[in-house]
Amino acid sequence: MIRVGDAAKAPEFPDAAKHALANAQLRRNVRHATDVIRGKRAIVVGETGDWQALREAGRRIKAHVLEHLDTYLTRFEENCARAGGRVHWAADADDANRIIVDIIRSHGESEVIKVKTMTSDETRLNPALEAAGIAPYETDLADLIIQLGNDRPSHIVVPALHRNRAEIREIFLRGMHLAELGGEPEDLTAAARRFLREKFLRVRVGFSGANFLVADRGSVCVVESEGNARMCLTLPKVLITLAGIEKVIPTFEDLEVFLQLLPRSATGERMNPYNTLWTGVVPGDGPQEFHIVLLDNGRTKVLADRQARETLHCIRCAACLNACPVYRQTGGHAYGSIYSGPIGAILTLQLQDMEHSQSLPYASSLCGACYEVCPVKINIPEILIHLRRRIVEDQGSYLERLAMKGAALAFADHRWFSRAQTIGRFLQRPFAAHGYVTKAPEPLSAWTATRDLPAMPAQSFRQWWAARGARA
Ligand code: SF4
Repeated sequence: MIRVGDAAKAPEFPDAAKHALANAQLRRNVRHATDVIRGKRAIVVGETGDWQALREAGRRIKAHVLEHLDTYLTRFEENCARAGGRVHWAADADDANRIIVDIIRSHGESEVIKVKTMTSDETRLNPALEAAGIAPYETDLADLIIQLGNDRPSHIVVPALHRNRAEIREIFLRGMHLAELGGEPEDLTAAARRFLREKFLRVRVGFSGANFLVADRGSVCVVESEGNARMCLTLPKVLITLAGIEKVIPTFEDLEVFLQLLPRSATGERMNPYNTLWTGVVPGDGPQEFHIVLLDNGRTKVLADRQARETLHCIRCAACLNACPVYRQTGGHAYGSIYSGPIGAILTLQLQDMEHSQSLPYASSLCGACYEVCPVKINIPEILIHLRRRIVEDQGSYLERLAMKGAALAFADHRWFSRAQTIGRFLQRPFAAHGYVTKAPEPLSAWTATRDLPAMPAQSFRQWWAARGARA
């Protein structure tokens, strides 16, 4: 079954946003965190003399990969298998979860340590593991906060961005069963380290996501800031990686572009503190069994839409979230998807075959801030408009389609336009005052609920011009 977390059951964005906007603490936390990351990003991006050229290079590599996705995926499969890795193909979320559960069970294990797991949130792997009697332990600090707090991620790079230090301390006290805990950052990280270190040394199966799959070597690349990934990727006997099929890039040299774009855009760093690359298995060094599960889960359908396929360029840096005026007010939970912000607004709906999350493409002011910061130049505003059109074409009401046809007719011919103006002037009379319509009847009331509509002037420009000519 194609699934993006619980997005199919999530409330519509406007309803969820109202709830989020009422939470002043959440808004403060989100604004502070995104301000900090934006500031750092601006400095390190400004330092590079060729940022626009780097963005263009990233865009071109991704566009090229999508044109030849089958070639690069099979090349990755061959090279990974040659190096001792085992490649599995998962059509959807259930398929991926079943493959992963089967691998862990085949080793008689009942625990797994996890890192970089956004794609596993997409497939809802943790509930599937727990249902199979396998305990998953998140090891990213933010993911650990989410797991112990029984919470949901609200940001792509900083999933617990909506939590402040005092809240995290409470979560750790309860979740780690601690009698006492200081509230300073070092107290919290020390508690997390003690909690996780024992698991790193004990658990025999590791699980990771992937930032990039390098086709010409069959290698997997994970970048991170905490060092927990390195523990997960090297200490267990068995390693399982879950990656979307769009993560593949052609060559090792292409990493040069993305390892400059990603850290600057994601965390405002020149380079990630930990960059881990591995290729298959090496006897006596690291995990002795490596499985990689390549996930479709709706991606090939996104690929089939040429106008929206660049959605799959995304390298999950979250720069578009930090820049988005809508996200900065509501935070991520209002999107109802693990992919929030502008990229979530275009990705979630498409992955779900346009069946759920139809309110998300409207969760945007179309200001273009997301496009300006995107390191791989995804034209999110254009895709948003394209998706809105698809929604209206697929599901728009008869009345809406009729209204659009009428508008097309009026705008195509000045005589029809003039007649429409006359009718509009007549209809607006009961609702217009001081040059504005402040309370329109249904179905236009949704528009005037949040803004005033300028009333149509008593005379059109064409009429004014004709009258002026007659007077002269
Ligand atoms: S759409 Fe662009 S800016 Fe947004 S997360 Fe993806 S790569 Fe980053």
